[in-house]
Amino acid sequence: MEALVDSFGRVTDYLRLSVTDRCNLRCRYCMPAEGLPWVAREQMLSFEEIVRFVRVAITLGISKLRITGGEPLLRRDLPTLVEKLAALEGIQDLSLTTNAILLFEQAPALYEAGLRRINISLDSLRPEVFAKIARRDLLGRVMAGIEAAATAGFRPIKLNMVVMRGLNQDELEDFALLTKRSPFHVRFLEYMPLDGYGDWDRGKVVPGEEIVRRLQALDSLEAIPSKDPSEVALRFRFPGAPGELGLILPVTRPFCAGCSRTRLTAEGSIKNCLFGQGEWNVRDLLRSNADDDQVRALIRLAVAHKQASFGGLDLDHQRSFRSMSQIGG
Ligand code: SAM
Repeated sequence: MEALVDSFGRVTDYLRLSVTDRCNLRCRYCMPAEGLPWVAREQMLSFEEIVRFVRVAITLGISKLRITGGEPLLRRDLPTLVEKLAALEGIQDLSLTTNAILLFEQAPALYEAGLRRINISLDSLRPEVFAKIARRDLLGRVMAGIEAAATAGFRPIKLNMVVMRGLNQDELEDFALLTKRSPFHVRFLEYMPLDGYGDWDRGKVVPGEEIVRRLQALDSLEAIPSKDPSEVALRFRFPGAPGELGLILPVTRPFCAGCSRTRLTAEGSIKNCLFGQGEWNVRDLLRSNADDDQVRALIRLAVAHKQASFGGLDLDHQRSFRSMSQIGG
């Protein structure tokens, strides 16, 4: 079967799968404090529908999967879905992104189900700053979740920090130094305009160049060459450190030209870009008598409409109509 190639020649082989739009935090860079309507349960794809979609996507060359949300651990029986996905032939890489609030309870079952790689979002090591960013005072639970993930056997554990001026930018060094003590992969992300209520402006973005300068002030940085051409993080390590540093710079060093991703929202829409305004409703197809060829055709159509960058938006003047939490980060 022919691979999924868009009109710019990019091959899509990576699917981000949102399993819920609900979240137990309200991170200010990701969603408004309140007022976001939830997707009705019957409108969310069932596990059977998700697995069928993934099976079809595999025949088009999808080989990497990331489960996300909303907060994916809020989806009931998530380990059952993980087990089904991990068993699919053709999936070479399965990972999960979580805020870790429920990880203390769920880490062993997720590992047992076949998950090995996990990304944890952690934007502050200080309870009061965490509470300000996440609008919930739950840092202790996250820390317990991280420990539980390490105990369960997850490797590597990536910690993702969205660096924001005026909120947590002064903790960059504390996060970086964690990699000297522990095998965490700490990744610094630039703040993208996906908050859903207009909070973003360029002034709040801490640009990658500044992050690098500050890391270099701590110690020398050894670049880690990537084996994976679709890797978006620039990777470094402090000499002799057990952990790694990564920079994900969608604002100042966009990686759209090498984009290999597509997304499925919890309600069953294909989105070919985080910022893309187009959505292709596959749920109706999955719930009709459509055969796999029709599902394949819709996936091809969505990928064919991929824009060169940022879904065709000019980020200074246009916004995605969805927040990150609704798309699946
Ligand atoms: N709830 C899970 C979590 O917290 O990891 C999964 C979903 S969350 C939307 C996925 C990732 O998107 C998180 O690492 C989060 O930090 C990141 N994210 C959300 N909004 C963002 C934004 N505006 N800019 C950069 N990263 C963002």
